Amino acid sequence: MLSFYPGPSQVYPQIAQYLQDAYVSGMLSVNHRSAPAMELVAETCQLLREKLSVPQDYGIYFVSSATECWEIIAQSLIRKQSEHIYTGAFGEKWADYTQKLGVEVVRHSLNPEEEILLGSQCEMLCLTQNETSNGTQISMISLRAIRQSSSALLALDATSSMAGIDFDWSLGDVWFASVQKCFGLPAGMALLICSPQALEKARQVNERNHYNSLLFIHENAAKYQTHYTPNVLNIYLLNRVLKQVRPIVAVASTLAERAAELYQFFEERTSWKPLIQNPSVRSDTVLALTGTSGQIKGLKQAATQQKISIGNGYGAWKESTFRIANFPALTNQDFEELRRFIITYENQ
Ligand SMILES: *Cc1c(COP(=O)(O)O)cnc(C)c1O
Repeated sequence: MLSFYPGPSQVYPQIAQYLQDAYVSGMLSVNHRSAPAMELVAETCQLLREKLSVPQDYGIYFVSSATECWEIIAQSLIRKQSEHIYTGAFGEKWADYTQKLGVEVVRHSLNPEEEILLGSQCEMLCLTQNETSNGTQISMISLRAIRQSSSALLALDATSSMAGIDFDWSLGDVWFASVQKCFGLPAGMALLICSPQALEKARQVNERNHYNSLLFIHENAAKYQTHYTPNVLNIYLLNRVLKQVRPIVAVASTLAERAAELYQFFEERTSWKPLIQNPSVRSDTVLALTGTSGQIKGLKQAATQQKISIGNGYGAWKESTFRIANFPALTNQDFEELRRFIITYENQ
C-alpha cells in the first residue's frame, strides 16, 4: 500500500529495520530514568537542534499528541484569555478545547483564501501554521508580520508541517507537532517546543495541578527525563530517522518544489482543482483538491484497487475534497506513481 493520507501517514521504509534494531538494542526494556534512556533523549534533542535548526535556548519536550499540547497550553500558559485566528477544522477544534478548559476564547474565523496578518495584544495568540483540513499554511513572511504587530505570546500548531518546512523558530513561542504526519513515524508521540519567553510565562502562571503541567514537564526535561513513562520506541525511531534525514533547509526546498509541481500538475493536466486559489496561502505539505462527491468516491475506489490510499476530505470539506500529503517520507517516485494513476484514471 502506498499512502498519501496526511496522517497517520506513510512511515519511512527504514522503520522496518529500526523497529528490529530497537528490539535488539534492548532499549525497549530499559527504565526511563536510567542512563541509556537519558542518553537517548539527550541525543535526540541534539539531533532536533541540528537537523531542524531548533534554537539552543528553546525547550524540547516529548508529549503524547498535538491534542495534548492544546491542553498543556490552555492549562499552563494562559491565565485568562486567548485569541484564536483560524480558517479550518483544526484551528477551530483547538479553540473549542481551550474554551472547555475554562479559558476566555476570542475567535476570528477567516476565509481560507485570506492571508492571516492580524496581530494580537492578548496573552496568547493561537495559530495553526499548517491547516491540515483545507491545505493552507501561514508563511514565514506572514508570521513575521503577525509577530511584529503582536505583544502576545504566539503558539503554533505545526502538526502537519514540522520536519517539512524551514521554520524561523524565533517567530513563535510555542511550537508543536505529533509525529504521525510530516515526521513519517508511527502515531503516539508529539513534540512541544517552547521559547524562553513561554517558559517565563509558565513560571508566572505557576500551574502545577496536572501530570502534564508545563513546569513539571520542564523540570524533568532539564534532567533528560520525562514526566511519565514515555514512548521510548518512538523516541528511538525519531532518533534514527533524524540521523538519516537531510537538514531541514534541503528537505523544505525539495518539498516546496514538489508541491509547486503537484499544484501545476493538477491544475493543468487533470480535472481536479486545488481547493485554495490563493497561491500565497497554499500549503506545501498538504494539498486539498476539489471535485464533486461522486467523482471523489470514484477516484478513491480506483486508487484503492491500485493499492494507493488517498486522503479523505476533513471537516467542512469532507465530501468536496480529497487530500494528498507531500511529506518527506514519500519519494519522487511515489509521486510519479500517483500522477500515472491519476492520468490513467482521467483517460478512462
Ligand atoms: C492531526 C492534527 C492534530 C491532532 O493530532 P493528534 O496527534 O491526533 O492529537 C492537531 N492539529 C493539526 C493541525 C493536525 O493536523
